[in-house]
Amino acid sequence: MNKSSSSRKVLRSCRRVLIKIGSQALSTGQGLNNRMIERLCDELSLLRDEGREFALVSSGAIAEGRAIMRFAENGINLSKKQALAAIGQGSLIRAYTDSFRRYGYTAAQILITREDLDDRHRYLNIRNTFTALFELGAIPIINENDTVSVDEIQFTDNDMLSAMIIPLVEPQALVILTDIDGVYAEDPRTNPDAQLLTEIRDLKAKDIKAHSGEAGSLGRGGMRSKLMAAYHASMLGIPTVITSAYKPQVISSVLEGKETGTFVHPRSRGRLPQKDHWISYVTRPKGRVVVDHGAAAAIVGSGKSLLPCGVVDIEGTFKAGDPIEIKEDGGDVIAVGLSNFTTDEVFRIKGANTSQVCSILEKECDEEVVHRNNMILRKDSGQ
Ligand code: GLU
Repeated sequence: MNKSSSSRKVLRSCRRVLIKIGSQALSTGQGLNNRMIERLCDELSLLRDEGREFALVSSGAIAEGRAIMRFAENGINLSKKQALAAIGQGSLIRAYTDSFRRYGYTAAQILITREDLDDRHRYLNIRNTFTALFELGAIPIINENDTVSVDEIQFTDNDMLSAMIIPLVEPQALVILTDIDGVYAEDPRTNPDAQLLTEIRDLKAKDIKAHSGEAGSLGRGGMRSKLMAAYHASMLGIPTVITSAYKPQVISSVLEGKETGTFVHPRSRGRLPQKDHWISYVTRPKGRVVVDHGAAAAIVGSGKSLLPCGVVDIEGTFKAGDPIEIKEDGGDVIAVGLSNFTTDEVFRIKGANTSQVCSILEKECDEEVVHRNNMILRKDSGQ
């Protein structure tokens, strides 16, 4: 259990680590698990003294809101959940702030919605905020802004929130703290002899279903969403450790490279650039252009940009710079990319030759509807 594995040695030199802790581990059922928060802050402060930096994605607002209001009902509606999150988030952040203050460290609350990451400008602004917080020596404590998030635009859970903010926090490792020891080959609740996987190489989205597990009664994730987060981390070139929050000194063990929990390797074929990750997974398409077979073949087969002459139809409403889907006429979506034009402009130039674009639009502009550098083929994004 305590031996150091060679692939985990990389964890010893991680300067900045993103940690995610779930609602089950943070709640006693009757309220916040203050001992857990204190233990975690105590450990992180000691590691911080040694020069490591941390950002913490912490669930627990709704669970704490429930406990404060003595709200026992299950299956509550969205507005009640939002209200409970508003009630619980204050105590949650106060617990972190007070615990870190004892060691001379400052916690900083960041509440994020899915929409904040959708827009490139806002997304990059949040990255600047993280950079400034690290420069100030603060420890960012992140949660979804549940109070203003509505179902359709929510992160599926905080595991996914952690994955989406990796390019903003820029950690060298992700650690997911949960209520079981790691990822098992089979569900340990139905098979007590199930084997714990100490490492996973080349994690693929399609393999994740095999390890799926239900979420606990307090949080939204489950093992499936933890593995999905690890999959994103691996694409972005960093390892993930999924392990139990209840193990004493768990973060120190992880960062010493000890064999605790499950280590998910970064993918072997090199990291996905952050912008490509944002286009493929973070932002959601605002519209769609339908292209003829010639344009589809040029895009998929010859790595070309999308030119106005290949466009046959436009759906949705988008602005210049928005992500759009590129769909083959009568076929599938072949790519997603950033449009150089608004919906209205694409309508005006569709079918035209590149040389006519500027004169039709009566302005100096790009000639491609979507430039190749801002385009990701669906087959490359793993979707
Ligand atoms: N954001 C939710 C909370 O703080 C938890 C979401 C999750 O469980 O992943 O209660």
